[in-house]
Amino acid sequence: MRFNRIVIKVGSHVLTEDGAVAKDRMLDLVELISEVMKRGTEVILVSSGAVSAGYTVLPLDRKDIGNKQILASIGQPLLLKMYQEKFAKYNIICSQILLSSADLDSKKRTHLAQIAIDGLLSRGVVPIINENDVIATEELVFGDNDQLSAYVTYNFSADLLVILSDIDAYYDKNPREYSDAKALQIVTDIKDEDMCADVTPNSEFATGGIVTKLKSAHFLLKRDKKMFLATGFGLDDIRSFLIDGVQKGGTLFL
Ligand code: ADP
Repeated sequence: MRFNRIVIKVGSHVLTEDGAVAKDRMLDLVELISEVMKRGTEVILVSSGAVSAGYTVLPLDRKDIGNKQILASIGQPLLLKMYQEKFAKYNIICSQILLSSADLDSKKRTHLAQIAIDGLLSRGVVPIINENDVIATEELVFGDNDQLSAYVTYNFSADLLVILSDIDAYYDKNPREYSDAKALQIVTDIKDEDMCADVTPNSEFATGGIVTKLKSAHFLLKRDKKMFLATGFGLDDIRSFLIDGVQKGGTLFL
């Protein structure tokens, strides 16, 4: 499969280690993005992690939504600075775009954002998008950018959304509860009941779990786009998929 433009979404689990930003994993991701770009694919990055970055300088209780807003506001420039340093190693410029899903409800604002994104990508810049968590608390509570990244994929004309998660695939049942759960390689249909399963956040940083990922996949499949869910702890699976065109692990929704 060849892709002209893709969106890569990285969750806060992947970007966080012991309460701080996982710099090695961030560097691995940036290196992979540079490889993908060399092969002629444009990349938009949707990154969580602002709350964790903020926590490293001001350790407020993250369970409180108001504190999360404060931490996101402090952490967002810190997160971007880390990305800038890492992308600079590969001579790549990155930029920041803060969005709320509601921005993409308006045709006019979507169009303005499209012009900016096209302009950045045509100049070889990697736009880094995050939910504007200070005023849009929905994904802060629920979803961790999963759904925003689906809207970004669709509205900015990408062919594929890659979700890098703490889980290596979508399973026929929750693999943390059932040891006989089987990883699904290809999924073409998402049942309504799977999208309303209980959402149980599994750390104080992340929310949403698998349900928001399935909602994203459902949204994209209806619009003839693809989604690939793979682990962000070690990038071998996503590298084989994007660079070698071979699916070793992960789930492809199409
Ligand atoms: P991230 O923060 O990495 O984006 P989440 O932790 O929010 O991801 O969501 C992934 C989690 O969803 C998995 O670690 C797992 O605990 C849970 N989960 C529940 N059901 C499933 C399933 N059928 N397949 C895969 N993961 C599942």
